[in-house]
Amino acid sequence: MSAKWPNWLPIRKDLATLTPYGAPQVNAKVRLNTNENPYSLSRELQESLTSAIKRELADLNRYPDRDAIKLRTDLANSLRDETGLTLEASSIWAANGSNEIIQSILLAFEGAALGFEPSYSMHPLITEVVGKNWVSIARTANYEVTKNEIELAIKSDDAKIVFLTTPNNPTGNSTDISLIEKLAGGLMSRGALLVVDEAYAEFSSQPSAITLLGSYPNILVSRTMSKAFAFAGARLGYLVADRKVIEAIELVRLPYHLSSLTQAAARAALANRGALQIDVKRLSESRDQLAKALGELGLTVYASDANFILFGGFRQSAEELWRNLLDKGVLIRDVGLAGKLRVTIGTEDENRAFLVALKQSVRG
Ligand SMILES: *Cc1c(COP(=O)(O)O)cnc(C)c1O
Repeated sequence: MSAKWPNWLPIRKDLATLTPYGAPQVNAKVRLNTNENPYSLSRELQESLTSAIKRELADLNRYPDRDAIKLRTDLANSLRDETGLTLEASSIWAANGSNEIIQSILLAFEGAALGFEPSYSMHPLITEVVGKNWVSIARTANYEVTKNEIELAIKSDDAKIVFLTTPNNPTGNSTDISLIEKLAGGLMSRGALLVVDEAYAEFSSQPSAITLLGSYPNILVSRTMSKAFAFAGARLGYLVADRKVIEAIELVRLPYHLSSLTQAAARAALANRGALQIDVKRLSESRDQLAKALGELGLTVYASDANFILFGGFRQSAEELWRNLLDKGVLIRDVGLAGKLRVTIGTEDENRAFLVALKQSVRG
């Protein structure tokens, strides 16, 4: 038993050695470490959220709609506008952040889970928490998933749940839709699922894997309102999948898991999604400018389709540069890749503050 836990505590042996998810929540002046949208919600949207929540208050003594039908219908309409595809509420499921989506998938389906790493650290962490095995396939030196990695995944017979993050976190690059299709096809023929984590899809120029759902019912697309939608504090993630997948997930969901306040708030935000698309465009432009500025500093910049940039090529260690920047009031992310750091795109002022601090640190 690990020394961390007292003897009287019957903690599961497989949990005793784990550490909880811990992006540092430090109180820095400029926070560019968790890929949130830096722009807060508009005054108008805040007001429509207040009215939407207020309308729920008289019924707060009652349980919420367990199936969140109105919200799932609104999500279907929003996705129809984005992709041109007609989706039914029955092929969408909503939860408290896409982390609950990931956990529910891992609870509902058998077998090991597999991912192409480096990628989102919660995929292996939640896999272990639910007591499953994790199979890791390394991305190429450039962090790509190519035909080779896809063939390895298709051949990993134990893995019934394969995660692919695109655009990938923390590297920022996307996987081509033709490769996603190849992976889905290979997994379909051996009865395995492909979970495409599209947390950053709104920033990407690539088509969504939702467009493949009609041909490959084993594709599960996970989305979130935490990033582009500027809604991280509200906690709303959603899954787009075959209705049989969603029926299976309903077996493991907790009753009334999604509060009536969350449902109402998310619906109000979806009704105002036009305003958020402007932020997405602004952030994508800022990303391209920041990537250029980092390149001009002589740093190695990884091409990003998301709202963050991975960079390397500095002379200090990642830990050292991370600390130097924090001392200057700028918090970015050490993602555990040697010699590399990840920065979230902030407001123009925040990006400027980051660049000033970075210039001093890499030259100083
Ligand atoms: C941020 C992130 C999520 C989690 O989002 P929530 O909806 O806030 O739980 C999921 N996947 C990836 C790849 C992310 O970066």
